[in-house]
Amino acid sequence: MDKLYTFGKYLKEKFNTKVKKVPISIPGFTCPNIDGTVARGGCVFCENESFSPNFTKEKFSLNLNSKENPLLDKQLKSLEFQFFNTLPTLKKLYGAKKFIVYFQSFTNTYAPFETLKVLYEKALSFPDVIGISVGTRTDSIEDKTLEYLKELSKNYEIWIEYGIQTSNNKTLKKINRGHNFQNVIETITKTKDMGLNVCGHLIFGLPGETQEDMLKSVKDSIKLGIDSIKFHPLYVTQNTLLALEYKKGTFSPITEELYIDTLIKAIKMLPQNISIQRMTAGTENLLAPKWCKNKSTQMSHIIKALNKAGIQTIWK
Ligand code: SF4
Repeated sequence: MDKLYTFGKYLKEKFNTKVKKVPISIPGFTCPNIDGTVARGGCVFCENESFSPNFTKEKFSLNLNSKENPLLDKQLKSLEFQFFNTLPTLKKLYGAKKFIVYFQSFTNTYAPFETLKVLYEKALSFPDVIGISVGTRTDSIEDKTLEYLKELSKNYEIWIEYGIQTSNNKTLKKINRGHNFQNVIETITKTKDMGLNVCGHLIFGLPGETQEDMLKSVKDSIKLGIDSIKFHPLYVTQNTLLALEYKKGTFSPITEELYIDTLIKAIKMLPQNISIQRMTAGTENLLAPKWCKNKSTQMSHIIKALNKAGIQTIWK
């Protein structure tokens, strides 16, 4: 890629208007890697309380054996509240005219199928919503959910966002991911064979990884036929297993120089049809690295480096 192809550009070309994603966090949703179904504690970088001695599975998880979901009413109200609360800012700041509801926090296919259907359809009923984007794990999506999303994609813009993070099995184990890269290959291949849009998430700076490992993950993700990608640096926040490692001195975060150099090499590897949704990330509760504190400073350093590397850049 010698000209940055952003997700915003992809959407503008397709819908001929400004489209923005509206991030949503559904209360009561959790993750099989947190609640003990796959593992407990979650990924080492995930901020949750499940590795504390006071954790109880019931506190976090829905009853997955039941079609009844006592929380559903609360979840629908929260979805509605978050959507209508975010809308004015997106309209004012970006001039957005159409929206994609982004089910962002935790694992958004890990709930009874009937619950998922009700929530997704509610999101699609909001004014000016043209689609949904569903963030999830590759080991937590049922075939019937994929079939249903495929059906929806006939009339709506449907995306599935899978956390890939790395293609290195040793690292996946080290970060307590709870699945291996073979699982990623199988699920993304199946999703793509069904004709659905896939965005892959990758993290640079995972424990023990060299730049070669990080770029191999990019290469392996491209091979899977993903349509879009999100990159971000591994940062350490409070209430994570990684924070304990960092405090003990057994984990050192990636430097800004290495992150930007890897990012540029990764972008150069991307074919022109893979859109980029994120080049870095900001967070609250940051412990380290300090350079991740300010997202706009990070972005300005990245854009400068991209320009220097000869990659045409209009970030929107
Ligand atoms: S998959 Fe996501 S929500 Fe689950 S433990 Fe890992 S980072 Fe946390």
